Amino acid sequence: MKIRVLGAHGGELPGFRTTCFLLDQKLCVDGGAITATLKLEDILKIDDIFLTHSHFDHVKDVPLMTDLLVGHRKTPVVVHGPAETMEAMDKDVFNNRVWPDFRVIPTKEKPVLAFDVMPIHKPVTCQGLKIRAIPVHHPVYSVGYIIEGKFGAIAFSGDTGPTDELWRAINATPNLKAVFLELSFPNTMQWLADISGHLTPKTVMSEIGKLDRRGAKVYLYHLKPAVIDEVKAEVRALKKDFLHVCELDEVYNIV
Ligand SMILES: [Zn+2]
Ligand SMILES: [Zn+2]
Repeated sequence: MKIRVLGAHGGELPGFRTTCFLLDQKLCVDGGAITATLKLEDILKIDDIFLTHSHFDHVKDVPLMTDLLVGHRKTPVVVHGPAETMEAMDKDVFNNRVWPDFRVIPTKEKPVLAFDVMPIHKPVTCQGLKIRAIPVHHPVYSVGYIIEGKFGAIAFSGDTGPTDELWRAINATPNLKAVFLELSFPNTMQWLADISGHLTPKTVMSEIGKLDRRGAKVYLYHLKPAVIDEVKAEVRALKKDFLHVCELDEVYNIV
């Protein structure tokens, strides 16, 4: 499994892109940096996008992407997410006001976009992977994903404050290889992290205390661009070899 970091930040500025991971060229976790990063030929290879929640920094490039697909895809790209997220995509994004409803474009019979509501806790199979959505703590309904394949298991936290349910599910999953964990604000902004459902280096460490890590690396992402230097300095000060702050365009080979 090759994981490419298309977007690793909780905001956008030149040199910073919003959250998006590409798995083996064909599946995205979140859609914050698809058209911002990839050439059209690579965008056309993506068959499935799994959304963690409806916040703009995670869905931004999904509408922009669909516009490029017309005339180039025989089957729709499928956007997966919990019911609340898909309702927001339906009512607030592809509503023919903010963006056209590409679920009927170019035709109702052969559209470029389809929605698929994810069950919670119950695994679905997609592209040969077993994928589970686990609820986490954020102001809007949000999930983390546990993805299992021949390579083992990886997990994405999505945006979340402190949580227990996700760690319980990860701890019960065999062959854990990597955890992608959100980290947004520096410790000096703990109050903001707490009210907005995010983590600081301090709460990252208390969350990792709940994880049966089994040697897995923890990849930190979703750092807010305006405070990123402070957050990175605080992570360095922790001196933990298993922590890695994701950088754009890195590729991790999980075997
Ligand atoms: Zn976010
Ligand atoms: Zn969010």
